[in-house]
Amino acid sequence: EVDFDVVQIRKDFPILNREVNGKPLVYLDNAATSQTPQQVINAIVDYYQNYNANIHRGVHALSQEATDKYEQARQKIQQHFNAAKVHEIIFTSGTTHGINLVANGFSSLLQKGDEVLVSAMEHHSNIVPWQMLCERTGAILKVIPMNEQGELVMETYQNLLSSKTKLVFCNHISNALGTINPIEEIINAAHEVGAAVLIDGAQAAPHIKADVQALDVDFYVVSAHKICGPTGVGMLYGKEEWLKKLPPYQGGGEMIAEVTFEKTTYAELPHKFEAGTPNICGGIAFGAALDYMNTIGFEAIAAYEHQLLDYATTELSKIDGLKIYGTAQNKTSVISFNIEGVHPYDIGTILDKLGIAVRTGHHCAQPIMDFYKIPGTVRASFCFYNTKEEVDALVAGVERAKNMLVG
Ligand code: PMP
Repeated sequence: EVDFDVVQIRKDFPILNREVNGKPLVYLDNAATSQTPQQVINAIVDYYQNYNANIHRGVHALSQEATDKYEQARQKIQQHFNAAKVHEIIFTSGTTHGINLVANGFSSLLQKGDEVLVSAMEHHSNIVPWQMLCERTGAILKVIPMNEQGELVMETYQNLLSSKTKLVFCNHISNALGTINPIEEIINAAHEVGAAVLIDGAQAAPHIKADVQALDVDFYVVSAHKICGPTGVGMLYGKEEWLKKLPPYQGGGEMIAEVTFEKTTYAELPHKFEAGTPNICGGIAFGAALDYMNTIGFEAIAAYEHQLLDYATTELSKIDGLKIYGTAQNKTSVISFNIEGVHPYDIGTILDKLGIAVRTGHHCAQPIMDFYKIPGTVRASFCFYNTKEEVDALVAGVERAKNMLVG
């Protein structure tokens, strides 16, 4: 048993006290979005109550204060992900925005016949922008396949790489299966053929503290709302050399050095990619969320969550007819499953009546569902504030749903 004071930690999350359908909330949809601790809520309230102002351009005190806090948050993010330079951290509206920014930038860097590789287990947000890029440039999209356990077939990946490969993108952790991908190996192999790598860290950030320098990754993207922060804000890390090469994504205020009707010159990094008034409060709260999680500590979080995952896997597996999708050796807090003969949506609906929040459907990863030839799964995803008792409630709920639905 891992020593982890989950009772104390739960007190930080006011929402966990509420009831749903007359039952205590059991929140197991953390891969979609995590809940927000009081410390982060306080940071949001503090901003709007005390120093709400536009940043970077005001001489007045509030604007200075907001700018300082926003830039401090950028530094916290830099330190957390161990980026070499603070201007390698670009604030975005989330993972999707970060990916689109990079995909758009590569429009001018790719040529017809260039190849880009994507893993078979991506979220739609790490597929569609690249397909659009390929349509614009004539580049070819190739897929790194996965096996039945939900692990990437690394031999095939090695064979797909060639001097034509310009870009590789892959998630660090799959949102639908929980697989932790061997990204070090993926990055190193891509670099050997001179390809750049974007890692979608949306699902990894809540569980693993990625070190972008140690990984030597070119781009790493996350969303704050999956790491106890607010929605509508995220980060794109990019190596300085790449960020300098990529053209701006959006034009507007804040991202310029000088504007005339004849020609505009762009601002230095990071502002070149941050047109318009950003989500100031969100950025500051993102910093507060990282502070919060680092206070608990990522090693403690990983150890505890692993224990929960093992327990839930064992207990759910005892249910007759239940099949788990994604049985990789190396996986984290996600269990995707189905019960023979039952539609996942029906299980999700009955669980909701019991106050248990899970996700059902294709989890924005239709190619994975096609691979397994299923319409979708029920997905329970855990956070460090979940308990063994909540896993028991899930298992009892699934048993009950099964008894109701299987005649
Ligand atoms: N990639 C992965 C692996 C995800 O899980 C998600 C969110 N479900 C996204 C990308 C998209 O994140 P966002 O909607 O916050 O942009």
